[in-house]
Amino acid sequence: MPDPRFVYDFDEPSHGGRELLGGKGSGLAEMTQMGVPVPAGFTITTDACRAYMSNGKALPEGLDEEIDAHLAALENKTGKRFGDAADPLLVSVRSGAAVSMPGMMDTILNLGLNDEAVQGLARVTGNERFANDSYRRLIQMYGEVVDGIAAHRFEQELTDLKEMRGVAQDVDLSAADLAELIGTYKQIYEEEVGSGFPQDAREQLRRAVRAVFESWDAPRAQVYRRTYGIADDLGTAVNVVQMVFGNKGDESGTGVAFTRDPSTGEPGLYGEFLANAQGEDVVAGIRTPQPLARMEQKLPRAFEQLLETMRRLEEHYRDMQDIEFTVEDNELYLLQTRSAKRTAAASVKAAVDMVEEGLISREDAVARIDPGQLDQLLHPMLDPTAEWEVAAKGLNASPGAASGKIVLDADTAEQRGKAGEKVILVRWETTPDDIHGLIQAAGILTAHGGMTSHAAVVARGMGKPCVAGCDALSIDIDARTIALGDETLSEGDVLTIDGGTGAVIVGEVPLVPPQVNDDLETILGWGDEHRRLKVRANADTPEDAAKAREFGAQGIGLCRTEHMFMADDRLPVVREMIMASNEEGRRAALDKLLPMQQSDFEAIFQAMAGLPVTIRLLDPPLHEFLPPLEQAKDERMRSRIKQLQESNPMLGTRGCRLGLQWPEIYEMQVRAIVRAAGAVEERNGEAPLVEIMHPLVAFEEELRRMRELTVQVAEQEAPEVEYLCGTMIELPRACIRADEIAEQADFFSFGTNDLTQTALGFSRDDAEGKFLTHYLEDGVLEKNPFETLDVSGVGDLMRIAVDRGRSTKPDLKLGICGEHGGEPKSVAFCHELGLDYVSCSPYRVPLARLAAAQAALAESGAVAYAGAGG
Ligand code: ADP
Ligand code: MG
Ligand code: MG
Repeated sequence: MPDPRFVYDFDEPSHGGRELLGGKGSGLAEMTQMGVPVPAGFTITTDACRAYMSNGKALPEGLDEEIDAHLAALENKTGKRFGDAADPLLVSVRSGAAVSMPGMMDTILNLGLNDEAVQGLARVTGNERFANDSYRRLIQMYGEVVDGIAAHRFEQELTDLKEMRGVAQDVDLSAADLAELIGTYKQIYEEEVGSGFPQDAREQLRRAVRAVFESWDAPRAQVYRRTYGIADDLGTAVNVVQMVFGNKGDESGTGVAFTRDPSTGEPGLYGEFLANAQGEDVVAGIRTPQPLARMEQKLPRAFEQLLETMRRLEEHYRDMQDIEFTVEDNELYLLQTRSAKRTAAASVKAAVDMVEEGLISREDAVARIDPGQLDQLLHPMLDPTAEWEVAAKGLNASPGAASGKIVLDADTAEQRGKAGEKVILVRWETTPDDIHGLIQAAGILTAHGGMTSHAAVVARGMGKPCVAGCDALSIDIDARTIALGDETLSEGDVLTIDGGTGAVIVGEVPLVPPQVNDDLETILGWGDEHRRLKVRANADTPEDAAKAREFGAQGIGLCRTEHMFMADDRLPVVREMIMASNEEGRRAALDKLLPMQQSDFEAIFQAMAGLPVTIRLLDPPLHEFLPPLEQAKDERMRSRIKQLQESNPMLGTRGCRLGLQWPEIYEMQVRAIVRAAGAVEERNGEAPLVEIMHPLVAFEEELRRMRELTVQVAEQEAPEVEYLCGTMIELPRACIRADEIAEQADFFSFGTNDLTQTALGFSRDDAEGKFLTHYLEDGVLEKNPFETLDVSGVGDLMRIAVDRGRSTKPDLKLGICGEHGGEPKSVAFCHELGLDYVSCSPYRVPLARLAAAQAALAESGAVAYAGAGG
């Protein structure tokens, strides 16, 4: 049964929490009930807002009477009457939804004033200036919020008046000045609305409540909710709060404060204070506030009280708080408290400190760090204290920031990079031929291409910043210049990119280094004690493998071999192999590749000594190794390129289909793997844990043949080497027929990128930036299934594969190596599925460790909920 009541006083228990009272209302009630000084007031619930919305925007029955009753109680408590001309009770009417939507909805202060009451207020306070100041604020806020008058109409008058009086600050205007302003404001109100400013306090209140309900549906609030995935039907609560006055003189003021530094997490007060002002002055940035230290000098008693209150609030909420307060005649009042928004660094530091202070448990600390936010910590960032101007924006393709000189081709990038210069490679798009330049570049900027463009994928793999698809960018390769909108820059000029936001900035911006600090290590360590999923990394090079290990990876879940084919010294030989007209020719070229592959594998096994390494045999279609048609060096190559061209390469001759058609390629790779394993074992006295993985299997027969080939080569080459032979599960048929496929497999690794493409029938390159963007904007889909696993569709296929695979082999090893392996929600799903491990890019390993720990904690019920975030 829905609660029959719509209104609760701050001092009444409601049991409804923030869903019912909104964040602001439940904070005010909770503070009141724990004895923190809060002005008296009451909350009209979100139930009332929802009823209003579904009632065709009519206030629900009985609400008016309920408000009247609570207003009467408020009058009794304060000893003042609402609408009284002699000594009026004034209130604020404040929105407050369950989920914080800063600045999105409306608040009106000083409600209850009118032409007479303003004089009464002046008399009882002996402060005419203050009374007039309060009234002119009411007319402006009420005009804006309730009647939709443009703010600039009022602000212009205020500015003009200050100019005429030759003063810089609002506080320098006299009582008479403000009286004049009230006259002007009332005139504006009448012009815009067609009737005078309402003199009846009850009418003001009724219309203000309605306006706050309406603000839930304002376009900006809708856009905000869509952006942050907040449901449209939650509604907002309305808080009616007795006014306390920070604008009464020098013994008064208003401020905001954090209980710890929100950018570093360092303990100690952090905030701002403005003397003789009302709250909105701080928020609106009209006057420049002073650091809280100044408050200590000016209002020492209230400051003492503030310190004590903040300590109590942290103890009560067991989290870092962000508060609003007002001091009226040296008396402190709290007007809001909430969990503070903070940087990842601050989250981590504050959580570790709070464990040491005995405020929270280790499990709490693990549970409350937002894994998604950790990304921030593991890449250099723009120095938040620096100033810069964004010249253009593209896609935030790979996080981190970088400054460097513009270079326009990969060779130059390589040369200058090797010479120790920091360069940003700027291209229309990149291709596999640019790899040597990408390796040396500090960052990558492209005009074309989406989140899965070559530049984006390679950059993410390398943990390098990349801004892709920057529409405003054009390149004049002959003139060696680029244009960013109207601005022209030459090769060699300095550019800064922020791959976390997609910002492109002309010139250099100072960076702050990634902070894989002790605090993060501490929290990850606490999490590791609870984690069931192992975390491996996708790594193709010994450098990546070493990086992954440093971040705590417990092996490699995906080592792609195609990148080894792309390297400078290999590509010509690979092309020779592809161009060969018969098997003999191919084998000759492969013989040249064999020692190179072997040394690659040796280096990786070495870096991962003692840990498992899954190596995937060649996956991409061969034409990816040939140049574009127009760059073919002769007719023979042109015709080979045409021959290999496919209209749907994603569904074409790739994966094990290559291995079945040209077995000599996989033979060479298996040979290189087992030889490398043998060599490393001999050197280290310990055998590497080798897993050989066949891609894109749909039929048992495919894997049966590929396993036979694998076993044969291994037997012949290095019979002493132990290894596992398994398959990627990345086609719906493979999921359905997992019981059969498991007959041939020692392990499964879900390739959820391809599985998502094939299960949904979405080609990623044709979806993102195109119809998928439309789907997301239109709400057909809530999340991009390439970023967050489509648990109900693709996830069900995985569940089927797990069940059927294990029905054949109960001890079948199971993992995931698609990009989802580093996405927190998907990691939680993998935990629930009972996989053995997730594998993700090295830079996401800490994030996956944390997400896996949170999934385990949530399951065990050790914490109320995990993954809450800051
Ligand atoms: P927002 O959600 O935009 O911060 P608030 O409802 O919190 O809006 O209020 C805006 C400003 O007015 C804040 O600085 C707040 O502290 C101040 N304020 C709100 N109600 C009162 C009140 N009853 N007395 C004094 N100041 C108030
Ligand atoms: Mg506020
Ligand atoms: Mg694949």
